[in-house]
Amino acid sequence: MQTNFQFTNRFANALPADSETENFCRQVEGACYSRVEPLTTANPTCVAFSEETAELLGLRPEDCGSEEFTQIFTGNKILPGMDPFAMCYGGHQFGNWAGQLGDGRAIVLGEIINNKKQHFTLQLKGAGPTPYSRTADGLAVLRSSVREFLCSEAMHHLGIPTTRALSLTLSGNQVVRDMLYDGNPKPEPGAVVCRVSESFIRFGNFEILAARGETELLRQLADFTITHHFEHLRADGTPESYVNLFSEVVEKTASMIIEWMRVGFVHGVMNTDNMSILGETIDYGPYGWLENYDPDWTPNTTDSANRRYRYGQQPAIAQWNLLQLANALFPLIKETKPLEEALAHYADQYQSGWNGMMAHKLGLLSFREEDKTLLGGLGKALQITETDMTLFFRLLANLSHEKMNNDPVSQLLGAYYKPDEINEHTDSGKNKRNLINQWLESYVRRAQSEKLSDVERTDRMNSVNPLYVMRNYLAQIAIDEATEGNYDTVRELLDTMRRPYSEQRGRESFAEKRPEWARTKVGCSMLSCSS
Ligand code: AMP
Ligand code: MG
Repeated sequence: MQTNFQFTNRFANALPADSETENFCRQVEGACYSRVEPLTTANPTCVAFSEETAELLGLRPEDCGSEEFTQIFTGNKILPGMDPFAMCYGGHQFGNWAGQLGDGRAIVLGEIINNKKQHFTLQLKGAGPTPYSRTADGLAVLRSSVREFLCSEAMHHLGIPTTRALSLTLSGNQVVRDMLYDGNPKPEPGAVVCRVSESFIRFGNFEILAARGETELLRQLADFTITHHFEHLRADGTPESYVNLFSEVVEKTASMIIEWMRVGFVHGVMNTDNMSILGETIDYGPYGWLENYDPDWTPNTTDSANRRYRYGQQPAIAQWNLLQLANALFPLIKETKPLEEALAHYADQYQSGWNGMMAHKLGLLSFREEDKTLLGGLGKALQITETDMTLFFRLLANLSHEKMNNDPVSQLLGAYYKPDEINEHTDSGKNKRNLINQWLESYVRRAQSEKLSDVERTDRMNSVNPLYVMRNYLAQIAIDEATEGNYDTVRELLDTMRRPYSEQRGRESFAEKRPEWARTKVGCSMLSCSS
């Protein structure tokens, strides 16, 4: 294997390290990170790697197939120039300040610059304990690692800002987990994912420093972030520079959430330690994809009582999280007004971005004020009977004006989980079929006003409405097979998700709606934070 990594290690070089170098759990004050070595494991194997992420790092597919690659990206071989560390951060978990969290099972190997002058941080998830592991073991299991690996790459190919995944490896060790927290712990295969991003700085990195009153360090981290990750802003130490940083994070976060809503992605654990300062999707835990459209749905069983992180609440939670970031930056600005103003833009940015995104999903050239009624009606129409969100938009794109009769819903039956149910009546006595048809007719009238041909409208819609998403049950099939040592489905899903908007022959089954057996199966519709 040829590795010509050019390590820059900007974070570690610029910011203060924990002076303690022994690896035991502790509060780490006055520092942004702690140096720590990954565990070595006896018998690692590579399950899959992403060619595209490898290419960003200057690695060829043949490099990724090598034994050395497996050793490096399970943490067994530290290359010259690597300077492994775990980051210190805090966070608000489920709405409450949780104090110091930190990279409990993530270890940055180093940061490189590629031949296009792009910077990438390489981080192993599941490579052993760190000073931030608290009571846990620093490890990860295959099931959650398959999910993180596949979904990171799927999100990227959907065009959604995300951390990337280079590799998925088995450590060769067993890890004990109580998957449902119901007193049934059992050993599972241990795994490591190498994640890649320009930076893994989270809202929580700022929050912990603010909470501890470490204002000078907070300033250093904010200046570092501006200098290296928001290069068009000036890191001149003025309050304005930090307000500008905050405004940019507001904007990036709003854009990211709009993208999640577009594809029906539910993160599942939007704690502030899981919010990237770059507006990337980060930390794939008990995430899920809407199958039947239900704004109240969350895949995370740990959150089932309050459903704080349900699909429809993600925009509001992101705003709440941004408020926590504003509070953390306040000591550098010392005035609430500019932060409040910047935060106030979130609602406008989100609303206008969402309107535009929804217009695009419907194949309209632009959003008009009067479309509010159409969009409101859509939300209702999707909930009249269990409707697969992904398939609905694909079938809607194919809705033929020519074949239109007075029963357009007959062209969308493939999107319904119980097609017969549309012949029933709602609680208020209305015919479901008629209700859906009314919406479809109003939609067609509006679409026709754009003067696009059917083909143009279909193409437009299919470019933003994916056919293939990382459906929960598909990931579970891949996991079940991988647990038996068969990695074919992991690899085939990875390949399918590279072209999520295009029909792929022979892969029709990956575009199917959730089968009945998956409705209540653990891992498919129910996930816990245990990973
Ligand atoms: P998460 O909910 O996955 O974002 O994790 C919240 C915090 O718990 C983070 O600080 C993680 O690093 C830490 N954590 C989660 N799982 C483990 C584990 N198995 N070992 C050590 N720390 C963990
Ligand atoms: Mg996390």
